[in-house]
Amino acid sequence: NLFENLKLNKQLINAIEDAGYEKPTEIQEKAIPQIMAGHDILGIAQTGTGKTAAYLLPLLMKIKYAQGMNPKALILAPTRELGIQINEEIKKLAKYTDIRTVAVFGGIGPKQQIEEIRKGVDVIVGTPGRFMDLYRAKELVVKEIKTLVLDEADKMMDMGFMPQIRQILEVVPTKRQNLLFSATMPSKVETLTEEFLEYPMKIEV
Ligand code: AMP
Repeated sequence: NLFENLKLNKQLINAIEDAGYEKPTEIQEKAIPQIMAGHDILGIAQTGTGKTAAYLLPLLMKIKYAQGMNPKALILAPTRELGIQINEEIKKLAKYTDIRTVAVFGGIGPKQQIEEIRKGVDVIVGTPGRFMDLYRAKELVVKEIKTLVLDEADKMMDMGFMPQIRQILEVVPTKRQNLLFSATMPSKVETLTEEFLEYPMKIEV
């Protein structure tokens, strides 16, 4: 199993085997060592390349196990559908750990999401608007967030999420690792990259 060369722990290797992933995809092979080394990443990759597991595996390695009440990582996605998909991938890859994940998105009431968060959470996946709503309602403590992922950043810019993303960047700790993934690099994403990433490693597949 070539995933073993990527220095992932046994819990993750077992979950990868169960998922039927036989070898790392190109983006996984290139990005995982850089993310594990602590770099900020600018990943240019389409859906279908395995980009989600490319950032999730090092993120799960970093968190290792359930830690207290408050999230250690925040993953922002443009749509509820993508958020749910990412959350499913986390559950699949974290199945042999006790890492807890909660998906937050609009279109439904916040009650169930709040109940889940109150039980304790390690990874929050969500859309920017609902995330900020829950933060303002004091249901989400952000001070322990050490990794921030922006997935499908180009789509987030197209959908007009820049103001919400700026607000989120103002409230999360400044000392953190940033991972930005985008299928294309229009000028709005360039601007976001300059504001958001520190000495990023650019990985293109
Ligand atoms: P993504 O590009 O993240 O949307 O992933 C596309 C699909 O590939 C998802 O269904 C993943 O579960 C799957 N996948 C991710 N990594 C691998 C891998 N190394 N081998 C086979 N399938 C994978």
